[in-house]
Amino acid sequence: MRPYILAESNWKDIKDQQVDVAILPWGATEAHNYHLPYGTDVYEAEAVAAEAARLAWEAGSKVTVLPVIPFGVNTGQADITLDINLNPSTQLAILRDIVEVLNRQGIHKLLVLNSHGGNDFKPMLRELGLKFPDMFLLTCNWFLAADRKAFFNSPGDHADEMETSIMQHLRPDLVLPLSEAGEGREHKSRLTGIREGWAWSERLWSQVSDDTGIGNPAAATPAKGKAFFEATTRNIAQLLQELAAVDPKDRYRRG
Ligand SMILES: [Zn+2]
Repeated sequence: MRPYILAESNWKDIKDQQVDVAILPWGATEAHNYHLPYGTDVYEAEAVAAEAARLAWEAGSKVTVLPVIPFGVNTGQADITLDINLNPSTQLAILRDIVEVLNRQGIHKLLVLNSHGGNDFKPMLRELGLKFPDMFLLTCNWFLAADRKAFFNSPGDHADEMETSIMQHLRPDLVLPLSEAGEGREHKSRLTGIREGWAWSERLWSQVSDDTGIGNPAAATPAKGKAFFEATTRNIAQLLQELAAVDPKDRYRRG
């Protein structure tokens, strides 16, 4: 039993345990090119949360990881078989109920650890922050927590070199040989503003990619995945430690 993982804990331990920070890992269930499993974002969220929490716990921070939420926003993948969509308004309802529990029980710090590009918790945390002023609400995308350019050459954001490397490290049993993977080529928008990155529209997944991937996974290796996973979890562990220690009423450095 890992005492910082709620799902593995029992009431005997929990009833007297001090919890300063709750971590809510949030994934998605969706196709990841031909070679990665539908649960990729869930496995990643669970593993990153658990390792970052372990490091923070061993440094003395009272953190606990809540069970991962396995479905994310997949509004752009409506015609990809069994990509399961939770609408943003549903996510807000789920989040509101969880925040209400934490707030009532005096656990006033929550990190939503996001594992999926279609999830956007910022507007939800703005709204919930007004409703629950005693809560210190944070979110981070674990996949941005370390500088990916220091580890990987190929750009991408879905089933790409980075994500494939991470899964080769975490769950090699669930990754097909790279000879089975598509190239993950992204078909660019006809609109200049979107191509340049300053305008946005949801990507229609069945048109933007032939194999559901965005980014070529060919150069992925488990060693790269391990190095990136370690850098990422170190940085998130630091965030957790600082979050556990900070006084929510005094969050900013003066001067
Ligand atoms: Zn993913």
